[in-house]
Amino acid sequence: MIELKYPDVLLDSLENGHMIIDENFIVLYWNRWLAINTQISKYEIIGKSLQEFYPDLNYTVLLRKIRTALTLQTPSFYDTSSNTKFITINRNKVTTSALAFMQQQVTISPCLNNPTSVLISIYDISELYETKLSLKKEIDKVNKLNDKLEADQEIIDKNIMTMKTTLDGVIIDASTLFCDFFEFTKEELIGQKASKFKSGEVSDATYKELWKTIESKKTWSGEVKNKTASGGAKWVQSRITPILDENGALFEFSAVYHDITNEKLFAELYITDSLTKLYNRAHFDEVIGSITKHQRKAETDFVLVITDIDHFKSINDNYGHQVGDEALISVAKTLKNSLRENDLIARWGGEEFVIMLKNVNIDEAKTIIEKVRMNVQNTKVVEKINLTASFGLTKYNIGEEPHNTFKRVDDALYEAKKSGRNRIVVK
Ligand code: GH3
Ligand code: MG
Ligand code: MG
Repeated sequence: MIELKYPDVLLDSLENGHMIIDENFIVLYWNRWLAINTQISKYEIIGKSLQEFYPDLNYTVLLRKIRTALTLQTPSFYDTSSNTKFITINRNKVTTSALAFMQQQVTISPCLNNPTSVLISIYDISELYETKLSLKKEIDKVNKLNDKLEADQEIIDKNIMTMKTTLDGVIIDASTLFCDFFEFTKEELIGQKASKFKSGEVSDATYKELWKTIESKKTWSGEVKNKTASGGAKWVQSRITPILDENGALFEFSAVYHDITNEKLFAELYITDSLTKLYNRAHFDEVIGSITKHQRKAETDFVLVITDIDHFKSINDNYGHQVGDEALISVAKTLKNSLRENDLIARWGGEEFVIMLKNVNIDEAKTIIEKVRMNVQNTKVVEKINLTASFGLTKYNIGEEPHNTFKRVDDALYEAKKSGRNRIVVK
């Protein structure tokens, strides 16, 4: 046995493995930590070749490293890449490591007091390795989330109509579905004003309210009729949200749209008379029902008018049903053009129409309807067919049931017919 010439007190006290070997891999020193962790005592190994104990090590590489350290008189590293180990060490301390093997970092340094041997130090870097591993797991997770986010974004892009604008309403982004829906390419839209979708059929008041809301940093929701590149009408449910910067100041606007064109068309169809395009009876009934139910002062101030075309049957009889239809359309147009925007006109049935004149007294109503009567008289149907209509008028009495109002106005119309037609009777 070789006499131990090295002061081993210091190395024995270290919490790392330290051995001294020469170029023939003969072990000259084996510290306490190694003895404990390898279960090989220094008495067993010192003086013997490391190869006897660890035949699987790559000794070609090790020799090269030893020579480098000795020649250059500088430490070299023996690379134990992940899951490889320099020498087998039984872990005798409980750590958080879930690894089967200790991860080792090995340095090979020239031995100060022996020019032909080296000090091999083995450091346990398991925890470092573990940290690296969990960091990698986290990075993988983030990457996966990013992938998912990208996939989600693609789904949103293709299935949801979204648009972003500057505070001045200049488009800075639009989803694929949005572009397709309005028949533009993204390139065509970016840089344009969002107002280019205006159909001209949405009131200025609506837009005013929209801007007021979003400029006060609130979300605006509402139904808007827009137009496509080719001029097609599209109804959208819009939701415009202001985006704030980190200081809470307005930054840009983000909008999400939902196509409600079909719903709007159906709803319109539901309340429209198919021949004259006026409101139908069901809608008029609903409006008057709602007004008389709620009895709001501003709404209950109206005059009810019923008009019936005179001798209409003879038009059908003399010119045919189709001309009769055209006559109905003409009269409907005349009525609409003779009245104000917010007066409600509906086809009551056959050749009868019903009108709600809002916020007028009976004298004002009479004047208005007198004008309507004359306009009907002057309406030309087809070549030279002239027609007339009779009118019954009555003021709605606050609080009364609508059928009583209708009874009065029917009586008035009946009287107008009986007393010669083409006239107005007030009840
Ligand atoms: P009066 O002056 O008493 O009102 O005479 P009138 O001929 O107008 O009255 P009447 O109620 O006897 O006739 C109404 C006619 O309107 C009967 C019907 O053929 C016709 N009519 C009802 N609806 C339509 C329609 O949708 N199209 C056409 N072409 N005719 C209709
Ligand atoms: Mg009739
Ligand atoms: Mg009639």
